[in-house]
Amino acid sequence: MCGIFGIGGHDDAANLAYLGLYALQHRGQESAGIAAGDDDGRLAVQVGMGHVAEIFREEVLRRLPGRRAIGHTRYSTAGSSVVANAQPIVVRTSMGTLALVHNGNLTNARELRRELERSGSIFQTTSDTEVVLHLMARNPRRDLVDSLMVALEQVEGAFSLLLLGENVLVAARDRHGFRPLLLGDLDGAPCFASESCAFDLLGARTVREVELGEVIALRLGSPELESHRLRGTVRPTRCVFEHVYFARPDSLLFGESVSEVRRRMGAQLAREQPAAADLVVPVLDSGLLAGLGFSRESGLPLEFGLIRNHYVGRTFIEPKQSIRNFGVKIKLNPVRGVIEGRRIVLVDDSIVRGTTSRKIVRMVREAGAREVHLRISSPPTRWPCYYGIDTPTRTDLIAARSDIEEIRAFVEADSLGYLSLEGLLSAVRSPGESFCTACWTGDYRVPPAGEERAQAALFPREEEGR
Ligand code: 5GP
Ligand code: SF4
Ligand code: MG
Repeated sequence: MCGIFGIGGHDDAANLAYLGLYALQHRGQESAGIAAGDDDGRLAVQVGMGHVAEIFREEVLRRLPGRRAIGHTRYSTAGSSVVANAQPIVVRTSMGTLALVHNGNLTNARELRRELERSGSIFQTTSDTEVVLHLMARNPRRDLVDSLMVALEQVEGAFSLLLLGENVLVAARDRHGFRPLLLGDLDGAPCFASESCAFDLLGARTVREVELGEVIALRLGSPELESHRLRGTVRPTRCVFEHVYFARPDSLLFGESVSEVRRRMGAQLAREQPAAADLVVPVLDSGLLAGLGFSRESGLPLEFGLIRNHYVGRTFIEPKQSIRNFGVKIKLNPVRGVIEGRRIVLVDDSIVRGTTSRKIVRMVREAGAREVHLRISSPPTRWPCYYGIDTPTRTDLIAARSDIEEIRAFVEADSLGYLSLEGLLSAVRSPGESFCTACWTGDYRVPPAGEERAQAALFPREEEGR
């Protein structure tokens, strides 16, 4: 998961990229960066670790002149958490200086990298994204857009990306559409963003999705957008987890309002997994909209029985075992007056390892809840994601090794209910086949790389002889 933003032909490009990234901060808090280009083809870049607002002080933004800019907020997926892996990645090639930002994960990056290294390429980062730039450097063309397309036709997996060259800004999206990417318009200046909430902040109009397999180029000095197509079959495999968890509820995603989709998930959850209880309490923030849907459908009132502290820094140091449930308490605090003596339905979007959910259930019980019924607005997460979401390996996914009753016992809830896959897909309006559901089904429609396939095939349930 990452957020990307780009704009061409605007006097305030770097500032607007900063604001766009600010709106996309939820898609990655590890590092951020902006590359800007002026009309003479000079590119400048600034990257740093941390939040967008921490990195881009006024004096930093002043070092990014020009009318074109691209930016990135990073959440580490492929590659480790170091500043060398922060994006934009900038390289000098025979086609001039290039800057690239990427959301998604390339499934054949390791194989390609091995081949490239064997024939002499020297990589600067451990990120899969850099492979695209090396492939471009190996296949220089007079037109940078051609070179990018040649490179993109060799990579597999998920990419929504933006490339800034000395005289062109390019947006491209893979043929499956795993990750979102939108085209917008700010007073005639074309812009691109992972989610529409970035356009809303800028006052830009959302024009449309960048289509699957589409490459859009904006040349320096021309207001016209050129649209090209990557070779190969378009096979829609959009990530439903974006709707479940990642995207901001005020965004339009894959043509639908995230807020509405999440409410429908919650309502469907209430139909499939009702609970005899007094109150619905959403686990903020991710469970809020599903909680609202659950409440409306079930007729149970929704109350904020958990309050979230939004100011938790990335660098917060937890004391050792000395304070119980500390990790979760710095983020969520129960409201005793709401919870005490009540039967509570806790609504959250997903369970990954189960450890946070267990702490939350305990916390709610310690605040006096009579019963705690946990309801999850997606099916059990059983398989890792190879398309840009940072899920742990199979061994760490509680639902890969435990059945629902075992998970219920682990999280110490009185009852546990998950939304069915059919129920989940009924909440999104496009046909179910057009979505990726691999983290619930193991149906990887774009095959992961060799090592990853081996990892995915692990069945810890059998191995551990449980
Ligand atoms: P668990 O009980 O598995 O430890 O944690 C469940 C919580 O993790 C849920 O509230 C869910 O919203 C959140 N969650 C699900 N996927 C992700 C993710 O990829 N990253 C982060 N930071 N949280 C996640
Ligand atoms: Fe999204 Fe899950 Fe598919 Fe990954 S595996 S792209 S998280 S639906
Ligand atoms: Mg959550």
